[in-house]
Amino acid sequence: MNNDIEKVLYSEENIQATIAKLADQLSEEYRDKDPLIVSVLSGAVLFTVDLIKKMDIMAQLDFIDVSTYFGGTATTGHLKLIHDLTTDVKDRNVLITEDIVDSGRTLQFLVNLLKERGAKSVKTVSLLNKPEGREFDVNVEYYGFKVPNEFLVGYGLDYKGYYRNLPYVGVLKSSVYSED
Ligand code: 5GP
Ligand code: MG
Ligand code: MG
Repeated sequence: MNNDIEKVLYSEENIQATIAKLADQLSEEYRDKDPLIVSVLSGAVLFTVDLIKKMDIMAQLDFIDVSTYFGGTATTGHLKLIHDLTTDVKDRNVLITEDIVDSGRTLQFLVNLLKERGAKSVKTVSLLNKPEGREFDVNVEYYGFKVPNEFLVGYGLDYKGYYRNLPYVGVLKSSVYSED
């Protein structure tokens, strides 16, 4: 698996140190606000788990799944709610945790959905932020790294469902794509 990586952009140590800083900031922001952390499946799971373990406040956790990318590297433009929350978000302070915000399509959909359901506040923390990809007007209140406009894998990010379990974020060798 590691042989398929062209270069590592963010090492495990770098990622964990960055998450520790975000966790401190978010613990201050959400202390006494009883936040509901909404983790976006499947990519944000690794980030969410590491983040919440470093937050020293009371918080609840739930999962939602929206799909924009179906297997490959190109977006289809379709959006589907694949797995819904079990928690009522009405009057809750919601913190969405994302792996990466690219076009912003997924995030815009989620923020609108949670606000329609009566959330008191909706903010987002994303490990990665790819502003050059932006097509939809969304706010990413907290993020770890501003990333270049490349297709990344690792630490939750997949190519055809694989590479999510890499502890770092990197770029795949072009030979991996050309084998398709
Ligand atoms: P958006 O809706 O902002 O365009 O994209 C959100 C989703 O697209 C992310 O949660 C992620 O699943 C996928 N995505 C966007 N950029 C990348 C990337 O560079 N690599 C991978 N593996 N997935 C990406
Ligand atoms: Mg995601
Ligand atoms: Mg994906």
